[in-house]
Amino acid sequence: MIPLVKVAFPPKEILLPALESVLYSGQIAEGQQVYDFEAALEAQFGLSNVLAMSSGTAALHAALTLAGVLPGDEVISTPMTAEPTNTSILYCGAKVLWADVDPSSGNICPDSIRKNITKKTKAIVVVHYAGYPVSLRKIRAIADEFNIALIEDCAHALGATYDGKPIGTIGDFGIFSFQAIKHMTTVDGGALTMKNPGHVLAAKKFRWFGMLKGVPRTEVDIHSVGFKYNMNNVNATIGIAQLKHIAPILEKHISNGNYYDTEFEKIPGIDYARCDTEANPSFWLYTLLSDHADDIEKALNSSGVMASKLHRPNNLHSIFSHSSVELPSLEKFYQRLLHIPCGWWVTDEDRARIVEVIKRG
Ligand SMILES: *Cc1c(COP(=O)(O)O)cnc(C)c1O
Repeated sequence: MIPLVKVAFPPKEILLPALESVLYSGQIAEGQQVYDFEAALEAQFGLSNVLAMSSGTAALHAALTLAGVLPGDEVISTPMTAEPTNTSILYCGAKVLWADVDPSSGNICPDSIRKNITKKTKAIVVVHYAGYPVSLRKIRAIADEFNIALIEDCAHALGATYDGKPIGTIGDFGIFSFQAIKHMTTVDGGALTMKNPGHVLAAKKFRWFGMLKGVPRTEVDIHSVGFKYNMNNVNATIGIAQLKHIAPILEKHISNGNYYDTEFEKIPGIDYARCDTEANPSFWLYTLLSDHADDIEKALNSSGVMASKLHRPNNLHSIFSHSSVELPSLEKFYQRLLHIPCGWWVTDEDRARIVEVIKRG
């Protein structure tokens, strides 16, 4: 079976000596490797004010808290995502207001964001779903007009750009995930990016019990709640090794994605997710759209190709029942959605075969 997602690691010869060295160094908690990983992420992806975290979810909790989201506030978000995008809003005691999606991309719809803004809105969370950038130009303008924080969930979109800028730099905050099946993994891990360097100190405290590293433990004074959300040197060492090998991996996702776009353009009844012309997706997954999604899924699965939907629309979870609204475009998108293999492990022969099966189907 050609899988839909696959864990990528650098060659053993590179990774294992680095891991052995850190594991027996006596310094396995947060330290120099973590700070080196942060600097490498900034340099390689053009990000600013990066803090490495224990997970993408921890980074979301930090972003929402730094955006000032408090109990009773409202956060506008998308249901078409992995659950942590939205369960983290509940960590802050806030209410999720669902914006509908654009049925041509599955991404949050700017007009629907605008309709949901109230006096209680503290933040807008957008997800570049499957690696396809949201309409950042319009959404940034809405956030500015109402003076509301914009948080980009970039867990699927490492390496994507919008208007020539790296994803995660147009919002006030960006988050990345290095969980097992993302473009790049540190086993578990995440990163928070901040537009305003004024947030960095508070973010550092938030990720480590409310304290700052470097201040003697007998003198440090905690005056805000912090969590155990820091990354350690072991995960960071994996991250540093990964970054040296990530470019060709991302390139292969992107070249496969562009190949499918070109091929599906020629097949009647087959469409695919589309985003703004300013956007360059990084295709964590490829999003095919068709009225015959179920039949195509069966045809692919019986030809040895994994294809499926990957997430349950989050509004369907009982924990969000108090946020329930009609989302007609989401329903339409979800019905027509099928993810097909697109990552670095999909060879030129594989992708040609996948297109053949779809053509025949
Ligand atoms: C994976 C993921 C997260 C959370 O990342 P973790 O590192 O697993 O905590 C957040 N948002 C989206 C869209 C994700 O896919």
